[in-house]
Amino acid sequence: MFGLVFAAACMWGQNPSAPDWRAVDEEGMRHYQALLRINTSDPPGVELPAVEYLKRVLEAEGIPARIFALDPKRPNLVARLKGSGGKRPLLIMGHTDVVNVDPGKWTFPPFGAVRNSGYVYGRGTLDDKDNLTACLMVMLTLKRMKTPLDRDVIFLAEAGEEGSVKYGILHMVPRFLDQLRKVISDPAVEVVREARDTRPLAPPSRLDSEACQVIEAAVKQDYAGAITLPVMQTGATDMAYLRAKGVQCYGVGPATDFEDGPKGFGAHSDQERILETEFYRFLRFHWNIATALAAAKP
Ligand SMILES: [Zn+2]
Repeated sequence: MFGLVFAAACMWGQNPSAPDWRAVDEEGMRHYQALLRINTSDPPGVELPAVEYLKRVLEAEGIPARIFALDPKRPNLVARLKGSGGKRPLLIMGHTDVVNVDPGKWTFPPFGAVRNSGYVYGRGTLDDKDNLTACLMVMLTLKRMKTPLDRDVIFLAEAGEEGSVKYGILHMVPRFLDQLRKVISDPAVEVVREARDTRPLAPPSRLDSEACQVIEAAVKQDYAGAITLPVMQTGATDMAYLRAKGVQCYGVGPATDFEDGPKGFGAHSDQERILETEFYRFLRFHWNIATALAAAKP
């Protein structure tokens, strides 16, 4: 499933001057299609080419990117923009792997990123290369606009979200098992990782946090006054590992065509797609949330 995390978490603030959205849209679509065309099906989950792509784009902009890998073919990427340190960091994240496809069932090639009749088709369009690209564009745009930040903004592009978390979030949040050992504090109890990937039980994120209020305001602003409701899904998310550490986490996703549900389209389906206009709106939505939370207030 998708994941965007707002760690740490003021009220809805004034946004700094607006980006050149036409340029952001054009570049965002270019990166989005490039990432969609990299087959990161998990299993086997070879995320390296996607991470190399992100690293190249970030470093060309002067944003250093670090690689953390349990398996060199399955790296995670972390990039950071420094803030004043006045507030705790904001972590934005997306995952680079995608679920498998049955190519015979697809009208358009699943790794073609074909644009047709106002849609972009491809595995990962909704899960999770939309978030991945939106996070990337937030980083690039903050850097280019030299936006003063009250928080560090950290971008994590993680591997293995689709069921092989030992390469991804568990590699990035190792301090989880140690914490568990400390809590249990009994030498007779051995704490080991299960062979099967299972997410930890973690308390839900708060609904009265700054991040939640900011997201609510952004939803209202960017989605024609829409109301935010917390929902429970039959999926899994790596945010569980962060919530287990006390991080307030919120997942967001783009609006999907109301026809898509009845057609069986959507994340993990045989016809994953997104309306181009919703992809562009999603870029703005990410930007508005990130700047409301992290941009320095005058
Ligand atoms: Zn998924």
